[in-house]
Amino acid sequence: MPQKSPFIIDIPSTDVLSYVFPEGKDLSDKPIYIDADDASNSLSLKQTLHWVKRLGVGLDRLGIEQNEAVIMFSTNHIFIPVLYYAVTGSGRVFTGCNVAYTVNEAAYQLENTGAKTIFAEPPFLDTVLKAADKVGLSRDRIFLFDDKPCEAQQGVQDWQRILGSEKEAERWQWRRMSPEESRTRTAVLNYSSGTTGLPKGVMVSHQNIIANVEQSLYMRDLEQSYSRRAEAPSERWLGVLPLYAAYAQLWFINAAAINQTPCYYMRTFNYSRFLGHIQQHKITHMQIAPPIIVMLAKRPETEKYDISSLVNLLCGAAPLSKELQNEVSEKRNLKVVQTWGMTEVTCSCLHVPGGRDDRSGSVGFVDPNAEMKLVDDEGREVGPGERGEICVKGPNICLGYWRNEQATRDTFDSQGFLKTGDIAVRDDSGWYWIVDRKKELIIVKGHQVAPAELEALLLENEHVADAAVCAIQRKHEELPRAYVVLKDSSKAKVSEKDIQEWTAARVAKHKRLDGGVKFIDEVPKSPTGKIQRRQMRELARQEQGAL
Ligand code: AMP
Repeated sequence: MPQKSPFIIDIPSTDVLSYVFPEGKDLSDKPIYIDADDASNSLSLKQTLHWVKRLGVGLDRLGIEQNEAVIMFSTNHIFIPVLYYAVTGSGRVFTGCNVAYTVNEAAYQLENTGAKTIFAEPPFLDTVLKAADKVGLSRDRIFLFDDKPCEAQQGVQDWQRILGSEKEAERWQWRRMSPEESRTRTAVLNYSSGTTGLPKGVMVSHQNIIANVEQSLYMRDLEQSYSRRAEAPSERWLGVLPLYAAYAQLWFINAAAINQTPCYYMRTFNYSRFLGHIQQHKITHMQIAPPIIVMLAKRPETEKYDISSLVNLLCGAAPLSKELQNEVSEKRNLKVVQTWGMTEVTCSCLHVPGGRDDRSGSVGFVDPNAEMKLVDDEGREVGPGERGEICVKGPNICLGYWRNEQATRDTFDSQGFLKTGDIAVRDDSGWYWIVDRKKELIIVKGHQVAPAELEALLLENEHVADAAVCAIQRKHEELPRAYVVLKDSSKAKVSEKDIQEWTAARVAKHKRLDGGVKFIDEVPKSPTGKIQRRQMRELARQEQGAL
């Protein structure tokens, strides 16, 4: 039987704007969205709604259709929540593009979403214009988008030129949705390749967003010394992950608003500046990914800053070994709680309660109102202690893939569970551990080898700072090969062969690194901390001939 969450909560059945800006309630003047470099540059919820209404007027005037996507190319700044709420609140669809994309990648997302309106931060205008040319979009629907007014460039105007007047804003109404509409109307398209294939637009509904904010905050506040959100000690968050992705949108736009927590936005990541912001703004809680945990554990400059205000780190988006988790907890005297999720579940669906000091590397319990089963390769459910693919159902599970019914059908099983491609184990009490990703499997002489398992093992080696494992082909068979980043202090001390032999002594024969070990300077990772598997496989392919 699928495992139902032990927790049941009430989830408002409405649209995102009615949820965040409840009718008849005075909105606070407290700054919520704050520029980390200049804290005087901020927006309260009251100011945010005012800007949302003015932009809502502007979007209507442009004649953007209902359910049409509006795309953003921007690093984090305080007007992104304004764009996000104006677009979703007016019945259109918000989509963010990775600012590191090349022209072709950006054109792919433009074409795939069908967006005809673009909000672009000035440094990305060249890429955006080239991408727009490729898909035949006209310039009069491209707007410069920053937190300060910008001079027009290359025939492109500042976004503030389209804002409605104060009077028009007073009259503007967002689209109030029935429970049925909030369940079925797409609010956001976040891009993910899912278990296979090219990136696809994940259709996230209004109800999905509300559900996942409620689920995440409930789990976060569970087992805390306070019992209700309103009693939570005053917190300050650092908006460090990029807002074009699901994880950052959930916490730094929506949860910050619902929790009324000041969130300091960082444009781009730089470790020293990051530490400086924690010190300056006395950040208490962070929602981050494993690469930042690695830095907090290992980088010597951490000692130069006072980060003692930090009490709790939520870590998700990629595997985090329990050794590293515990190292950071001890060294920095704080709690690290894990979460598991993916774009297709809006953001997260397993959480370790925020009050727990879990040391086991678990990703916690199933979120409220959701149900989960672990299945083997034949789709049969497995029991506690057995490995199985996570399949999940619940109010936060996406509607499917945008304009891709086949991929949607392939991603859900006959009972309506989302197939995640992640392998987990659960214990009798309902705690989960992520043990692998089915999506990346290596098969050696008919046996399965899990890259995540070897990577976690390599990270236990005292010389290894980071590692990625992928398959190479030799004489028609796959062999696991490790790309290893050594700690600076270990560089002269250990050879590639040493690491290979060390591993061989600790794994079954078929899991040995018979494809070799290679030292590299850095494992390529996405901004949210995931190993760039495709890039690793390409590296392995290039090397194959020489091996
Ligand atoms: P994305 O859709 O980009 O958020 O990627 C989701 C994928 O990241 C999941 O399917 C997992 O493979 C991986 N992932 C997310 N959270 C965790 C976690 N806590 N531990 C291990 N892998 C994770």
